[in-house]
Amino acid sequence: MTAAEVTGAAQARAWADGTIPGTERVRPGLWSIPVPIPRNPLRYVLVYALELPGGVAVVDTGWSTEEAWQALGDGLRVAGYELGDVRCALVTHIHPDHYGLAGRLREASGAWVGLHPADAELLPQRYGVGVEELVAQMRSLLELNGVPADVVGELTEASLGIREFVALAEPDVLLEDGMRLDLPGWDLRVVHTPGHSPGHVCFHLADQRVLLSGDHVLPRISPNIAVHAQQPGNPLASFLDSLQRLRLLEVEEVLPAHQWRFRGLAGRVEELTRHHQRRLEELLSVLDQLPGATCWEIAQRMTWSRPWPEVTGHMRRAAVGETLAHLILLLARAQAQHTGAPQRWLGQASSRTANRCDEPGARGECREQREAGPRP
Ligand SMILES: [Zn+2]
Ligand SMILES: [Zn+2]
Repeated sequence: MTAAEVTGAAQARAWADGTIPGTERVRPGLWSIPVPIPRNPLRYVLVYALELPGGVAVVDTGWSTEEAWQALGDGLRVAGYELGDVRCALVTHIHPDHYGLAGRLREASGAWVGLHPADAELLPQRYGVGVEELVAQMRSLLELNGVPADVVGELTEASLGIREFVALAEPDVLLEDGMRLDLPGWDLRVVHTPGHSPGHVCFHLADQRVLLSGDHVLPRISPNIAVHAQQPGNPLASFLDSLQRLRLLEVEEVLPAHQWRFRGLAGRVEELTRHHQRRLEELLSVLDQLPGATCWEIAQRMTWSRPWPEVTGHMRRAAVGETLAHLILLLARAQAQHTGAPQRWLGQASSRTANRCDEPGARGECREQREAGPRP
């Protein structure tokens, strides 16, 4: 059960069948184009095309692979356009399934590329010359969190492989919060929603009451919220704040970047918020059982969508980063503290909040979130 009511029935069917849905017209002038993601259980990213006089704007682009490029071109042709007709690429965030083809699209069509400045800042280090420094920072962060010497190398380099799927392309336009983009026929505003990445944005079509939500709000999956070298601070607090901001918007239908489109944004926001409350609660009980544990040790005791030995590579690093994000939120709320290096954590048992996972009625949703499987 989820609060999100399916509106993209064909997309939801394809998700259940393990296939890729077709390109579809969501409403007049607005198209959804699934672009495949190679070797990834998420399977596809939903690129949206908004018709303009003499061309289209796209929201997100897909991974930089030949297959994705073909699929994007094929989808645009269903809508009556060519790759050369793309006038701008509005990118929700820096991850390769969203930003990957932006540079190639610009080369092919002269499109301008838009990205939030907080993500634009990360590009050179992530995909360019600064990568050595990033790897070194990642290694020391993992060591500080107790990742043992024989694992730290594997986790540090877990995401280097994805760089080949992004061509480094600086954006032409920095998308600031509240900005109204000049797209004839569309009343489109930028909503900064940090958490999943520091510069994540959603796009609100105010007159149509539609939200293009990127990875921030998906119908069934909770996006990965992790502390890592490029995302220090308290990203879970940012994410929860960003969720609450969406409540101020009038939205009838949500067009997410994965899975399927849906109605019921407020309910889904509520569900995601509760999900993280329960994860915090689970974390506090692990801290009770293992006082003085490192983040690495705590992560292994948390519930994941599969047994810990099967959480490997990039997933394992994401799990450690996500555990750390929850610990840091507890620290900020004075419900936990740490000492030493590597950091050892202690919970403040007296500051427990309500909403335990074993409350009547709560179990179903907890299970659903944990069994969600692939995560963006
Ligand atoms: Zn993402
Ligand atoms: Zn994604």
